[in-house]
Amino acid sequence: MTNNGLNAVVTQRIEVAPGLIIMRVAPDGWELPPFRPGQFAVLGLPPEAPRHPMADPADDPPPKPGALIRRSYSIASSSLDRQYLEFYLNLVRSGSLTPRLCALGVGDRLWLGPRISGLFTFDRLPFGVNLVLIATGTGLAPYMSMLRTDPDRGAGRKVAVLHSARHSWDLGYRAELIMMERLRPNLTYVATVSRPDEEPIPWGGHVGRVQELWRRRILEGIWGFHPESANTHVFLSGNPDMIEEMMAMLASEGFREHTPQKPGELHVEKYW
Ligand SMILES: Cc1cc2nc3c(=O)[nH]c(=O)nc-3n(C[C@H](O)[C@H](O)[C@H](O)COP(=O)(O)OP(=O)(O)OC[C@H]3O[C@@H](n4cnc5c(N)ncnc54)[C@H](O)[C@@H]3O)c2cc1C
Repeated sequence: MTNNGLNAVVTQRIEVAPGLIIMRVAPDGWELPPFRPGQFAVLGLPPEAPRHPMADPADDPPPKPGALIRRSYSIASSSLDRQYLEFYLNLVRSGSLTPRLCALGVGDRLWLGPRISGLFTFDRLPFGVNLVLIATGTGLAPYMSMLRTDPDRGAGRKVAVLHSARHSWDLGYRAELIMMERLRPNLTYVATVSRPDEEPIPWGGHVGRVQELWRRRILEGIWGFHPESANTHVFLSGNPDMIEEMMAMLASEGFREHTPQKPGELHVEKYW
């Protein structure tokens, strides 16, 4: 692939599971702008870039020839890391960009948008409020940036990460989160798998979707109380079906969606 406007390079590629990739991308010859944990960047590749062998052979719909295919991706690395951005990517087999992104190897070039944006951050959180960070799949990425950037952010507050994936082997960042939980007394990490019947040996952890864990008041057993809007902010990231269901449940418990115009306790990042 020629340089042709491709201003960044893959510097690390970790395959968590087939079609689930942690990728570091470094700008080539320019500086990353400052960003806040929880924000997203834009990645791009030309339609000529080859598709991953696991992807469907053709795009649906086909991309416009010539123009870069661009999509948004939450940053998983700390905003203190100035050399690269890390992304947590899921291969959408019928997709346009992820089949091409997932086919990249170390040293390959891609386009990294020079602007980083997004309002899914810890900005303007009330002091001392507890945090519940809920994600499906790669929706975990912004929380990794938040937790990696400001480990003491939680001092005096409780922080829980609730992460769901289909299988135990799809639970990216699990070792790092278990380590963080051991080192930080205020942090709770709860992982759940939605297809326990497909595990090669029985999975001893939580099963079902995050919605069901919340319904079963999972945090009451850990924190000693069920989170309420008066003492907790909830973040939701990833699959829009999970987000819609959680929002309805949380609204019935008195949580209000946070918007720039109207502060609330419920922060949302829908991936599609
Ligand atoms: C703010 C923001 C942050 C995002 N951060 C991430 C991230 O950190 N990691 C990540 O993998 N994706 C993330 N996404 C989704 C990403 O932008 C793309 O939509 C996704 O990678 C699919 O792109 P594609 O070109 O391969 O598929 P497209 O050709 O764009 O096809 C899109 C269709 O695929 C489905 N789809 C989209 N995303 C997914 C998914 N993750 N899993 C299953 N089905 C999906 C939907 O049905 C959607 O209509 C984010 C989206 C937004 C808006």
